[in-house]
Amino acid sequence: MKNTTGFDYQALYGDIHNHCNISYTYGSLDDAIKNAALRLDFASITGNASWPDMDEHDPRIHHIVQFHQRGFAKVHNNWDNYLERISKGETAHQIVLFPGYEIHSNEHGDYTIVGLKPSTRMILADSPQELRQRIFKENLEEGYLIFPHHIGYRQGARGVNWNSFENPLTPLVEIASAHGFAEEDLSDRPFLHSMGPQQHQGSMRYELGLGHQFGVIANTDHHSAHPGSYGHGVTGIWASSDRREDVWESLNAKRTWAMTGDLMQLKFAVEISCKDRFVVILVNQEILKSSLPAQLITLNYLRQNKGIVGTCLCFQSVKWRRNSRGRRKQLFGLN
Ligand SMILES: [Zn+2]
Repeated sequence: MKNTTGFDYQALYGDIHNHCNISYTYGSLDDAIKNAALRLDFASITGNASWPDMDEHDPRIHHIVQFHQRGFAKVHNNWDNYLERISKGETAHQIVLFPGYEIHSNEHGDYTIVGLKPSTRMILADSPQELRQRIFKENLEEGYLIFPHHIGYRQGARGVNWNSFENPLTPLVEIASAHGFAEEDLSDRPFLHSMGPQQHQGSMRYELGLGHQFGVIANTDHHSAHPGSYGHGVTGIWASSDRREDVWESLNAKRTWAMTGDLMQLKFAVEISCKDRFVVILVNQEILKSSLPAQLITLNYLRQNKGIVGTCLCFQSVKWRRNSRGRRKQLFGLN
């Protein structure tokens, strides 16, 4: 195994895509913050903010259109208040809270936007490309992450459109949430929402096959103020510390892994022997499932290589630790 001595990171856990009544879903923001702090080190509670290509003129969905428009207006009108409340919540509950919002799109698929700064502005656009351009134009690229979610749905029905997927600002893809798992098109939990069914072209494996590089995350996309709810999705990161800047740095550096249930700790080293091409290494899910007391979706590691020669993974026993805030956590992992 590649030398891991000097591996000076700590495992932290977060959910950076979930909802409450700041827009059109349920449960208070204060409850969402309290619930997040029960289990997580960092979170972003997401305001549903716009849907540029919503079919506003179809009378059959008039009630749905109104429901969404009311929710969008609510989050716009209360954005400053939202920022203030999460700043206070951060201090009161000792958790890192990033501001966040969401743009729906039939054409491009839905995207979550997360901001580093407590004063993050809501920047909207009709497409991810246009959104990137606006962020860059204002020299704000250090402070925004955007990522597609519930990617497995059909393209055109709010599933991912890989033609719109590009870096920068998009190092991560949400591969699991309460909507279902999109690691591949046949998964333990198929997409169940009315926007379903899922399609092969919306899977993580399909996109890796096209040669794109990204880190994987899982979030709950909970709609009732329960970020971190068990069984829906949680992201692990290796971070230098639990300061917000270090959490942000590790997300951007793609030191991430996606889980569905128990909080696990995943260390890995990859060595590959190939030249001039991208190599994807998938951890054998059967090994992980039989060796861990919880379900891990997958670990994917993608690297452009120059003469690397092998891979290695092993397991470390269950242990307890306290994080810097004294919160007790059970960890399962690999090293
Ligand atoms: Zn959402």
